[in-house]
Amino acid sequence: MTDTLAIAGGRVLTPDLDVVEADVLVDADAGEIIEVAPGLAADADETLDATDSLVLPGLVNAHCHAAMTLLRGYADDEPLEAWLREHVWPVEGELTPDDIRVGTELALVELIRSGVTAFADMYFAVDEVAAAVEEAGVRARLGHGVVTVGKDDEAARADLDESFDVAERLDGAADGRVRTAVMPHSLTTVSDELLAETAERARDADVPIHFHLNETTDEVTPVVDEHGVRPSEHAADLGLLTDSTFVAHGVHTDPSEFDVLAERGTSVVHCPASNMKLASGMAPVQAMLDAGVNVALGTDGAASNNDLDLFDELRDAAMIGKLAADDAAAVDAETALRMATEGGADALGFDSGRIEAGANADLAVVDLDAPHLTPEHDLVSHLVYAARGSDVRHTVCDGRVLMRDRDVLAFDEAAVRERAQEHAEALVARAEE
Ligand SMILES: [Zn+2]
Repeated sequence: MTDTLAIAGGRVLTPDLDVVEADVLVDADAGEIIEVAPGLAADADETLDATDSLVLPGLVNAHCHAAMTLLRGYADDEPLEAWLREHVWPVEGELTPDDIRVGTELALVELIRSGVTAFADMYFAVDEVAAAVEEAGVRARLGHGVVTVGKDDEAARADLDESFDVAERLDGAADGRVRTAVMPHSLTTVSDELLAETAERARDADVPIHFHLNETTDEVTPVVDEHGVRPSEHAADLGLLTDSTFVAHGVHTDPSEFDVLAERGTSVVHCPASNMKLASGMAPVQAMLDAGVNVALGTDGAASNNDLDLFDELRDAAMIGKLAADDAAAVDAETALRMATEGGADALGFDSGRIEAGANADLAVVDLDAPHLTPEHDLVSHLVYAARGSDVRHTVCDGRVLMRDRDVLAFDEAAVRERAQEHAEALVARAEE
């Protein structure tokens, strides 16, 4: 017998971004949406109340370093290079697998609380990340971040091998909710030789590639100087850009690169808060979209954001998209919302991001009973410009309830926070010794 769940009594955001009064009936075993229609609650084994609420696709955070929650607020107000070299990398050098588990659990509580049902994570000790994802119940595209600068050949190759080992070993874990990718950090932190090898092995193993592209001019100038072409062209020459590749940032991407990315079907993950905080620049999001590039949204790590609330990114993306284009009509509310839902799902290769029969049952339910969401002229506008992560009441992923009435079910939230505080203090103390 099928185990069914109805999200009932509210309104539903359709794939066309219309709002209709309907229930959503879910096959909890298969993790799929069965039907979207009024009056489905009576057919269900379990019901989730959506009165005065809007059911929307679970949000997709397509670029994150989850365990960096432990560094939240540790080193603010620094430019990217100094921030990485003087603060982040020394602390990351002291991270233990246990720290990464604890930091990832904290991130997962935060993601679930703000209605995120899928995310991509580039980090280390990925077995710990995968175990936390399995426990949490979300969906994820995980990978081991490869950095080869400053390493000898043997250590560099071992790092790359680990990324492939992780990608092959963990793919399909957590009942298929964990998928993987190989994740060279960027074009300037991994050698060309190993980037080319990454592309070849990824093609043979049929595994996606994820890396940072054009986050700052420091990632652009050395490539142009050495190879005489823009970084997207160089990445394409190395074989890194395919329709399963997704790159983070794309801030300093020029129009010649839009076509390179669009032609290969490579997705760009826009991370507006991180780009603003590190003064990296304004990604030309509307121009990339106009050129046919799929654009998703990400928070990046909590150390450069400083939270993992994708509702903040929605608003930031719409705001900075207008500034970058010098056009108040650029990156409108519908466009931003699509980036956080179907754009993210497409980038990560998940059949999620829309509420219709047959899609993954990945949903968030936003409580509309709030002064900052009144009056109701346009609920898509509210989701982008006015709603917050804390407005999410329920989160459902793969047909299972992960948060009910703001209670995250998989974790003891107080215990997670306490462990995170302890681990963060000990970590920083080791790094500053
Ligand atoms: Zn990043």
